[in-house]
Amino acid sequence: MNLSQTIKISGLVQGVGFRPFLYRLAHRYALTGSVHNTDAGVQLQIEGEAGQVECFVKAMHAELPPLARIDGLDRTSAVWHGYEEFTIGKTQGRDAKSALISADICVCEACLAEMQEPSNRRYNYPFINCTNCGPRYSIMQHLPYDREKTSMRFFTLCPACEREYVNPLDRRFHAEPISCFECGPSLRLLDRCGRLLSEGAVAIEMAAHALQEGKILALKGLGGFHLLCDASSSEAVLRLRKQKNREAKPFAVMFADISSLCTFTQITAAEETLICSKEKPIVIVQKKKSLLLSRHIAPGIERIGVFLPYTPLHHLVLQKVGRPLVASSANRKDEPILTQSVAVIEKLGDVVDLVLEHDREIVNASDDSVMQIVGEKPIFLRMARGFAPKSIKLPFKSTKTILALGAQQKSTITLIFGDTLILSPYIGDLGSIEVFEYFERTVERFFELYALKADIIVCDMHPEYETSRWAQKQKAEYPALTLLQVQHHYAHILAVKAEHGLRGRVLGFAFDGSGYGDDGKIWGSEVMIADETGYQRQFSLRPFRLIGAEKAIKEPRRSALSVLFEQLSLEELLTSGLAPTAEFSKEELTLLHTAWKKGINSPYSSSMGRLFDAVASLAGIVQVSSFEGESGLKMEAYVDEKITQTFSFALHRGQIDITPMFSEILERSDTKEIVSMFYNTLVEIIAAVCREYPELPLLFSGGVFQNKTLVQMIMKRCALMKRPCYFQNETPVNDGGISLGQAWFALHNQ
Ligand SMILES: [Zn+2]
Ligand SMILES: [Zn+2]
Repeated sequence: MNLSQTIKISGLVQGVGFRPFLYRLAHRYALTGSVHNTDAGVQLQIEGEAGQVECFVKAMHAELPPLARIDGLDRTSAVWHGYEEFTIGKTQGRDAKSALISADICVCEACLAEMQEPSNRRYNYPFINCTNCGPRYSIMQHLPYDREKTSMRFFTLCPACEREYVNPLDRRFHAEPISCFECGPSLRLLDRCGRLLSEGAVAIEMAAHALQEGKILALKGLGGFHLLCDASSSEAVLRLRKQKNREAKPFAVMFADISSLCTFTQITAAEETLICSKEKPIVIVQKKKSLLLSRHIAPGIERIGVFLPYTPLHHLVLQKVGRPLVASSANRKDEPILTQSVAVIEKLGDVVDLVLEHDREIVNASDDSVMQIVGEKPIFLRMARGFAPKSIKLPFKSTKTILALGAQQKSTITLIFGDTLILSPYIGDLGSIEVFEYFERTVERFFELYALKADIIVCDMHPEYETSRWAQKQKAEYPALTLLQVQHHYAHILAVKAEHGLRGRVLGFAFDGSGYGDDGKIWGSEVMIADETGYQRQFSLRPFRLIGAEKAIKEPRRSALSVLFEQLSLEELLTSGLAPTAEFSKEELTLLHTAWKKGINSPYSSSMGRLFDAVASLAGIVQVSSFEGESGLKMEAYVDEKITQTFSFALHRGQIDITPMFSEILERSDTKEIVSMFYNTLVEIIAAVCREYPELPLLFSGGVFQNKTLVQMIMKRCALMKRPCYFQNETPVNDGGISLGQAWFALHNQ
């Protein structure tokens, strides 16, 4: 019996070799018809023997190309057309914009092999790619994903590339960004003033040589420029630190291959898998004791961020240099990653010695993703290149288009339309004009790609967040727009629910630096019972003052002083010789005490992040931090599993009272003991709260849960208690996940 069908497929089916894949399958099962990209995905006309059609559909699911994902498949019978062959047609359709954007993919093994083969016409070609690899989001201007809608449109295919591009059996069939030495982008090496030094292979040669000599090179990657320097040269690393005005924040290091990476670090099997994955994120791993790299890369921290080259150009440079390189995003402090050599020279001309660039435009910027493995599972510290934009298929269709704006720090946006949710790459901290403009560009790009307008905008409750202000402005301009506000920590918990598709009531622990509370106070240690419609706060830390407000974030010793003022009189403190007082004069301490006592610029907060600060300061680990999360990160090194005691605490009337802990800390001087007991206490607090709600699943989110040691301890404890617990493994656990939670709320409350 013969069958003629129309099959509509949605999901990640564009720019991932899906059509040639169908072409090959159609040949295998002797079927005829056609396939083309539409705005909604892929549409297929298929004719042939009914049994063979079924085999075709089965094989389509079973043998899916590595980057493809089928979300929806709709089969309807069609009138017999009598196709003579199977063809790949032109892109059609302008209506439903639901084809998904694929993230950028690092160069594949097959392309690398060709690049290293002297007889290949792409030998040492820095822009080699195929259907399974190469740039996507970073070069995309519009959908559907076709060459003329990317920044490759300026490069006309040469006859040899054209032959590959149109041959359905070639592994570069319809690989939109393909090119070669004849027809593709070209490399240029510039000096710090923008003067041309060399081109092509010579440019790589000269750049590599300069790196060996300790110079700083800006290199154009996939989603932006990197600043590179020799990781074994302390002089080079210190110069980069000084020039970039980056005192102690750790740098990531790129290694030529996994075996060289293993000589410098101790990695687990799960870490190796993640490092070598097709996304090639930066992974935070354990340093080897005898680290042969400059100790200025991650001073005072036992871990280091490592990754492998992910573009052909990175591979070529690393091979030539022959040693590991520090690779840091090229940006000025608190500004977005730079994508144009002109901007690199203008903004970082005093930092870099040379610029290795090319003429394939980066349309959409994205930073490197940063992850770590906790209990065999990944946790995102930053979700960007390779992973985002991330699309999630929703359990039901939204009738409205939803735009969620996220928070202020580690900003991301989330868009919902139909049954599609898209989470943007990491944008940054919206405190600077440059990052805010990048935020606006991302919003514009998302709407442009999908030809959409928002019906609902969701923002945080914090009136001072740039995103809240922007939302208010939109509402004033378009009164028909619905504006929703979602409490910060509730959004954290909803993000976990969204990732795991959990319905109904849960017990959520949202621990972070700060978020605006329902009562206008600064929250940051919320235990809540939550579902899709709302939440009730069950517990939070007994609030303490943040002396100097914002200043307390930069200076852990201010949080420590705040809790000390509760324990000791000013006179006692002045003669105590305690670590947090060390760098203050008597006059300064007196002033701080007055501010604390009278509440001058010293708001109450229940921030868990600041509690970490207070303990880190009391233990003498960090007094003034030079990067966010330093306290937690540095404390981890002191946790000793053999120490099992805890400090005292009490749970009453919705408060977690840790006052007794501070006097107990003051009785001790051993850093390991203080830190280990503090971690044990937190786990014990969580366990005690959990016991009160035996029927609810446990959800954890917020910046505090980036702390590897703490999360491992909680997971262990939950397993002991036989309680199901959920962390985020595919979306950002820090404020990068807020937009996801906000969108999830709007989806269920429109
Ligand atoms: Zn490839
Ligand atoms: Zn070519």
